Amino acid sequence: MLRASERATREGSSIEEEIVTTVSMKICSSALEPLAERYLAGKRIVLQWLYEHKTTSLKEVHNASYEVLREKFGLKSKLAQDCYRDAVATYKSWSKNPKKGRFPILRNVSLWLTPKASYTVDFNTMTAKILGEEVKIVGYPHNLDQYKDFKVKEARLVKRGDDWYLNITMKKKVQVEKQVKGLMAVDINMDFITLGNESKVIEIPTRLDDSAHYKKLAENLQKKYPKRWRENKRILNRISRFHIKARNIVRDFAKKVGKWVVDEARRLGANYIVLEDLNKMISHVKGLKKSYREKLYLMQYRRVQQWVEWEAKKHGLNVIYVKPAYSSTTCPKCGEKMVESGYRMLKCVKCGFEDHRDYIAVMNLCARGSLTLLSAPQMRDVITNR
Ligand SMILES: [Zn+2]
Repeated sequence: MLRASERATREGSSIEEEIVTTVSMKICSSALEPLAERYLAGKRIVLQWLYEHKTTSLKEVHNASYEVLREKFGLKSKLAQDCYRDAVATYKSWSKNPKKGRFPILRNVSLWLTPKASYTVDFNTMTAKILGEEVKIVGYPHNLDQYKDFKVKEARLVKRGDDWYLNITMKKKVQVEKQVKGLMAVDINMDFITLGNESKVIEIPTRLDDSAHYKKLAENLQKKYPKRWRENKRILNRISRFHIKARNIVRDFAKKVGKWVVDEARRLGANYIVLEDLNKMISHVKGLKKSYREKLYLMQYRRVQQWVEWEAKKHGLNVIYVKPAYSSTTCPKCGEKMVESGYRMLKCVKCGFEDHRDYIAVMNLCARGSLTLLSAPQMRDVITNR
């Protein structure tokens, strides 16, 4: 996502990148219903026209549909434009899909809105104005203030069940230094998150056991009432509260790690964060029957990586993924195999180098990161001789 919007405005070794996110707000407004119906009906007509004429030229679509959308469907000028642009986007994604399938019939209510022209949002008063209608925001992410310096872009107004949501695309430009100033690795395992490089390593105990504790409580309840728990509202409520608690612990922890990583990278002067690419391992393990602690671990793994990447990019740091294999059992000095030599300690069979296993993992990740950067062709001109 970030790569695609990378700009070629390179100033020296610094690049302007755009970070994009979607913020979902639950809103309260029934006045939008009739308008949404007209929009949808109009979009269906435009889609049909596109299907018959096999063109995606916006000029042609405009000429064919703009007046119809305004007069027959009563859409204001900007919304009429959004409507046919929306139809073109839907048509394009359908026609580009090799499997195609049946032509989209648009069951879901979803409107494309241009900021200022079709909607405005005020985060201070938690109100929005959509197509002239004042609407109240009744639900929003609790960490909204992190988007304070983001720009509000196009939004989608969608209806799910009886609820209305305004999904706002938000963007921010960040200046990213591509020249390598320093690397910092983040090693994630069951009990500790280890971050750092050759000069300093810090360990953060995970909250996996706290989280597993609540999962266990939920499981115990299910075991205790094997037949009743599904039907009994009170038991069901308690079970779901435990599950939510377990999930929140992992989520909050992941967010904190994201912030720590950025702080620590600053302290160490590192502008590249190295993470293990464990996607393969995760998809491999997914199919296996695993204990809840291991399932939680995978969940935590993903969450921590996502938050680290998000926080890092928001702060103009680079993130690279490297192959994880053997990162915790290879000697960082000579590359030989290492064997256990004590509690979480490893020793090299060849050169005798001995250290804490997490420290070794971090050193190996940093080394791999350097290698990856050196071999990436687009990086060659910006990497210093290290
Ligand atoms: Zn060695």
